[in-house]
Amino acid sequence: MQLSIKIKLVPSQEQRKTLLKTIEAYNEACNFVSQVAFENKTASVVKIHRICYYDIRKKFNLSSQMAVRVVGKVADTYKIARSKKLNFKQPHKFSKHGAVIYDQRILSWKGLEKVSVLTLKGRQVIPIVLGEYQQTRLIYPRRGQVDLLYKNGNFYLIPVIDIPEPPEKKSKGFLGIDMGVAQLAVDNTGEVYSGKEVDKKRVKIDKLKSALQSKGSKSAKRHLKKLSGKESRFRRDINHCISKKIVEKCKRHSLSLAIENLAGIRQRATVRKTQRRQHSSWAFDQLRKFLEYKTKLAGIVLKTIDPHYTSQRCSNCGYIAKHNRKNQSSFVCKSCNFSVNADLNGATNIAYLATANLRIVAPTKGVTSHLVFS
Ligand SMILES: [Zn+2]
Repeated sequence: MQLSIKIKLVPSQEQRKTLLKTIEAYNEACNFVSQVAFENKTASVVKIHRICYYDIRKKFNLSSQMAVRVVGKVADTYKIARSKKLNFKQPHKFSKHGAVIYDQRILSWKGLEKVSVLTLKGRQVIPIVLGEYQQTRLIYPRRGQVDLLYKNGNFYLIPVIDIPEPPEKKSKGFLGIDMGVAQLAVDNTGEVYSGKEVDKKRVKIDKLKSALQSKGSKSAKRHLKKLSGKESRFRRDINHCISKKIVEKCKRHSLSLAIENLAGIRQRATVRKTQRRQHSSWAFDQLRKFLEYKTKLAGIVLKTIDPHYTSQRCSNCGYIAKHNRKNQSSFVCKSCNFSVNADLNGATNIAYLATANLRIVAPTKGVTSHLVFS
């Protein structure tokens, strides 16, 4: 499977200046080419290249391969916009410090300590720092493009690496996960993947946000932008942490993993307003994606389940009815009186459906919801 990793560069003072100038020249060139692509209404690499390749090299002092990468980046941007049916009303503007896209001709790795990158001042050999995680990853083949990023005063490379997938492990059953209403995630053993710090931080960020939004000044807007970056980093950390815990639990107990499929998450994302706020801001899509690649890396089977009516089924007796649910957090069965936390009930049903290869179908005239093979 393919995975991207982030590697920090440690350039000298002189190299920093050169890298920054290179990034700026590259993006200025992108903006120049963007104008051309816009005026000629084209996203074709060949056409753009024909029109402005020599101008790029002359105007921005870029090497021939760098100029090729500029054309590639702009063409890609316009192609993606087209596929999304976005119509630019003016040329797309590339930010001053946008990513520079390198390929093997202009970037080469020198063992695990250094990298050689082409700049405005020719090739520069720059030390890199690798954490333990990156070291175990960078030994795998790297191919294709590598992005050079400049963020908060630091330079990073983002290579894509090819990691071999281990064979799928045999399992004793399924760990079911309910991506919750009240909690971020709950499994069918009742373990809750959330935390008070998460809620506290969310409340704090929300308060700050609404205060800033009501101000509306320029500096408030700047703060808001910073805050949303902070929020998304925090969310990412939490999702990494939760997915790691879940996958480790599967490994420890030789279990496969069962989660809701995307339809379920979308459906849940349109529930009541108060919950919608929680759901959208906690991006279950991201947690899902993390679970997907982490199970793959660990050789754990991941099964996705149609989650419809899993919240209405009693995990004790199997009775399915809408009114089984008392409220968002508690479940009381109208048939057997079984009472349980609603998310735990959902997770138990998800594990059960995955094991038995079943799904629940909608009620139709005269027939209540019932189980069918999926
Ligand atoms: Zn029951």
